[in-house]
Amino acid sequence: FNYQQTRFLTSAPDIRALPDDSGIEVAFAGRSNAGKSSALNTLTRQNSLARTSKTPGRTQLINTFHLADNKRLIDLPGYGFAKVPLEVKEKWQKSLSEYLIKRKSLKGIVVLMDIRHPLKDLDQQLVHWAVQSGLSVLILLTKADKLSPGPRKKTLLEVRDASMAFMGDVTVEAFSSLNKFGLTELEQVLDRWFSD
Ligand code: GDP
Repeated sequence: FNYQQTRFLTSAPDIRALPDDSGIEVAFAGRSNAGKSSALNTLTRQNSLARTSKTPGRTQLINTFHLADNKRLIDLPGYGFAKVPLEVKEKWQKSLSEYLIKRKSLKGIVVLMDIRHPLKDLDQQLVHWAVQSGLSVLILLTKADKLSPGPRKKTLLEVRDASMAFMGDVTVEAFSSLNKFGLTELEQVLDRWFSD
């Protein structure tokens, strides 16, 4: 697929406002600041497709993008921001789990984690929910340029090992928006999901 052709589709306040549940879609999720917007921009070769450095916890919009005929990329709101009220967090968790369970077109989810702090509680919960919902998961360890090759490889192997516990279709790759490390691997996983 030509990810460069990705175009903004809609901004939805909640899952009920998403486009028609047909075709195939892949969602991107991660803690605020994990590097999700940067990864989407790197994937699509567009500097401002997904907006970086927004104010976390304000408007929790789900942005949808058109990739090809009936194929979509979904940018889910970042989670784990400390200053967000509990009520908002709980509402988000509920609508996220609902989306993972009910959305028929959802094929897989890319969960972005800073390679220096992978698999925090909410990350694990999200991967767990996704696997339980029968989804494929790609754990993308972002900002891989922050580690030298040795520690990078070590972390990658550790997270791969830990992810066996989810007992599902979970792939783990390292990624960097800064130097495009892992971009080919990301595209290969997405190509596979979108062609199934
Ligand atoms: P989001 O909140 O998950 O969408 O994260 P952003 O994409 O806005 O990135 C958060 C911060 O991390 C920004 O300051 C980015 O410049 C930085 N960042 C994102 N990706 C990378 C990367 O691959 N390498 C490095 N060194 N910094 C990154």
